[in-house]
Amino acid sequence: MINGYQAEVLKIYDELRNSEEKALENRRAEIEKKLPKVIDIEKNIVKLSLDMSINILRKKENIEEYISVIKEKITDLRVKKSELLVSSGYPLDYLEMHYNCPKCKDTGFVGTIKCECYKKNLIKALYRSSEINYILERDNFDNFSFQYFSPYKSSNEPESPRKNMEKIADISWNFIENFNSIDENLLFYGDSGTGKSFLANCIAKELLDRGHMVIYRTAVDLIKDLKGARFDSQEELEDLLINCDLLIIDDLGTEALTEFSKTELFNLLNRKLLKRRKMIISTNFTIEALLKNYSERISSRLLGNFTLCKFYGEDIRVRINMNKKK
Ligand SMILES: [Zn+2]
Repeated sequence: MINGYQAEVLKIYDELRNSEEKALENRRAEIEKKLPKVIDIEKNIVKLSLDMSINILRKKENIEEYISVIKEKITDLRVKKSELLVSSGYPLDYLEMHYNCPKCKDTGFVGTIKCECYKKNLIKALYRSSEINYILERDNFDNFSFQYFSPYKSSNEPESPRKNMEKIADISWNFIENFNSIDENLLFYGDSGTGKSFLANCIAKELLDRGHMVIYRTAVDLIKDLKGARFDSQEELEDLLINCDLLIIDDLGTEALTEFSKTELFNLLNRKLLKRRKMIISTNFTIEALLKNYSERISSRLLGNFTLCKFYGEDIRVRINMNKKK
């Protein structure tokens, strides 16, 4: 079975090469117009190389002498071509492919071994599948406002939603500013629409902009990934989920709560905690519901190793939409 991410990553490499081939075509067209002589020289080089191969195959007489003459001719032509390009202000490699990764020439593989750029492109593939780029255009601190949260305290909460959010925002900024030195994870819990995913995404955007490797998965996608890692031996994927700087698990509790998903979730949490790789988890579950739906070993890790942030108040999505209509 061809696994989904590998296909997606190879597609990314295809796109990289295609776009570079197009760019090279354009550069060549430009040179053809401005320095037609350079293109003539190139054609000449191709012709000489071709002739040489044919004559080698035909076992021409005095072949060695012939080869050295042709090679010299080709070298002279190359020098001439370079001189023409450079004297007209073009870089030497103007008519060559410019690979993003010269090591693997944008194929992802050096021989049969995955190139070091493969991981970067696997992350890209993950990002595409989660549409996080699109989400982060909307969910970032530039669009964050305490105005969305009511300043009025209801009788069953200790503080107004706004005051509560100010505290959670402080925790979040502390998490961002001290990201390299702290050993902290955040658990955002509370009713839907109270800003949990929004804030988690704001943090993701901020850390991505600062160069950290952030992976965002919904709980449903995460379980799919873990299944892939288990049954299709997608080791890189598992490695990424465990070793990324920050893993955001959105909407915990919406995944199918099977024995498999719970075991895999526990293993992931455990391995990440041992390696001190940070997580932000958001869930609509209350603490009681977490305790009820997950085994003791999962909930004890969630409650013991995460800073608990309770979100409450009116549905901010309604408020944000009302603001847009004004
Ligand atoms: Zn490479």
